[in-house]
Amino acid sequence: MKYKLGLPLCGLAVLCGAMPLFAQSDLDQRVGKEMDSLVATYKHLHENPELSTQEKESSALIAAELRKLGYDVTDHFGQYDSPGLVSYGIVGVLRNGLGPTVYVRTDMDALPIIENTGLPYASHVKVKRPDGAEVGVMHACGHDIHMSVFIGTARMLAQLKSQWSGTLILIGQPAEEMVSGASAMLRAGLFTKFPKPDYVLALHDGSDMPAGKVSWREGTLLAGADSVDITVRGVGGHGAAPQATKDPILIASEIVVALQTIVSREMDPQLPTVVTVGSFHAGTKHNIIPDEAHLQLTVRTMNPQQREKVLAAITRIANGIAAAAGVPAERAPVIEVAKDYVPATINNPELTRRVAAALERGLGKENVLPGKAAMASEDFSLYALQDPKPPICMFQLGAADPAKWQAAMQNGTHLPGPHSPEFAPVPEPTIRTGVKAMTSAVLELLKK
Ligand SMILES: [Zn+2]
Ligand SMILES: [Zn+2]
Repeated sequence: MKYKLGLPLCGLAVLCGAMPLFAQSDLDQRVGKEMDSLVATYKHLHENPELSTQEKESSALIAAELRKLGYDVTDHFGQYDSPGLVSYGIVGVLRNGLGPTVYVRTDMDALPIIENTGLPYASHVKVKRPDGAEVGVMHACGHDIHMSVFIGTARMLAQLKSQWSGTLILIGQPAEEMVSGASAMLRAGLFTKFPKPDYVLALHDGSDMPAGKVSWREGTLLAGADSVDITVRGVGGHGAAPQATKDPILIASEIVVALQTIVSREMDPQLPTVVTVGSFHAGTKHNIIPDEAHLQLTVRTMNPQQREKVLAAITRIANGIAAAAGVPAERAPVIEVAKDYVPATINNPELTRRVAAALERGLGKENVLPGKAAMASEDFSLYALQDPKPPICMFQLGAADPAKWQAAMQNGTHLPGPHSPEFAPVPEPTIRTGVKAMTSAVLELLKK
């Protein structure tokens, strides 16, 4: 028999299928025993957040936990683009016989935000930026919840080795918020120096679901994100002699307005698209028409074809408006799409359906909901694009205080979510649910 009995067992449970009832109660009990320690770890991580690329202590804590549990741990794994920057990536391998290889990823970094939750374990950490300015540091994206769930999952799967067969690889990824950590680990040979993945799993918390619930979505979960810089080049001159100039401020203004027609008139209304101009800089003085104006855009799309279409439209509109204003071809706008774009996070449908079924068995059907796509972005998407291009699945973990969530629903308001200085996940039952969910998903993929 594969499973130890946690509770008295009725014959019916055995008839219900391979593992559901008694395995689940066994998992419940095991997770329950770890909760005090996991919540303490969570509060410690929350109080001691580290910015992207600086996850020294958080990664050391994870590495120590995994080593204690018998994982074969590689630390400081990863190679950033910028030489000299240390990567704090962690890879923990647990080999347990024949079978597939499942990767589970947590992120580890916090955000430059001054925490305003008023929680007893709120962060008071402040750091100096390279320009000398002081910034607060806060786990405002809940990566501390992710790390706590990850440690809990590591413990469960080490304890439950008799119930699965295969290779489990737990990765602590740095610098998610800068979307450079996944590529740093992949660049360093994550999928070649360690066993090749058959599946890659992750979760993300949020305040749009009460703690105790999870949601899943097959296909696109998160948008792809591009940063685009447009330099509009005109012909500068005296503000009182506009006839002798090509005013880049006016041209750039027309471009900003015309860009809005991409979403409203060119894209399928059923397919979410965002084109936002977040920065517009030009000029030095009242009476000078400058030579140039600079625009900075963020673009969010849900698939590669849509991305190509939007980027082409931006180029066409910027060039067209400049030409219409009489800007000579050699002074056409310079349009730069940043190299570090993040593709859309697209959950493999078959894997996601398997994970969803495991979540329903692990948490109860009533706690597993259909999820929605969001326009936020994640570098988790990159794991799906690296050879051997494994199927990936990220599911979402409710982290809102259930009573506050209920009140917000009734009032038609929203609780502060990720990236808010007031984002305050409830540790219980969020972490408990996360550990049960991720453990159930891995057990399904590595079942004997
Ligand atoms: Zn974030
Ligand atoms: Zn995040």
